[in-house]
Amino acid sequence: MSDWSEEDKKQMRERLDSRMIALRERIIEYRELTKPIPPENAIGRVSRMDAINNRSVNEAALRQLEKQLAGLERAKDRLNDDRFGLCNRCGKAIPIGRILLLPGATSCVQCSD
Ligand SMILES: [Zn+2]
Repeated sequence: MSDWSEEDKKQMRERLDSRMIALRERIIEYRELTKPIPPENAIGRVSRMDAINNRSVNEAALRQLEKQLAGLERAKDRLNDDRFGLCNRCGKAIPIGRILLLPGATSCVQCSD
């Protein structure tokens, strides 16, 4: 058992929820920015090349955000688990501060490389 109280878990759940809402909003914005690019004859060759460059940057950012969101969703699922807050390698309790900072963390500082 970890040393998380019900109150800690409640607080964590609220933090996860508000982060997830913020992330989802940003994901929607980035999806907008990574829409298919109009053909060259509509916007011109140079602007199209700019758009392609920008889009690949935005796509990378979008993937990063989606990964973060998935991590938060998993963290939220794990809150219901008895093993939440325990390192999945050594089994020791992960400090609460670390999880608040990195909700996706599933191992303690010593075990994560
Ligand atoms: Zn560990």
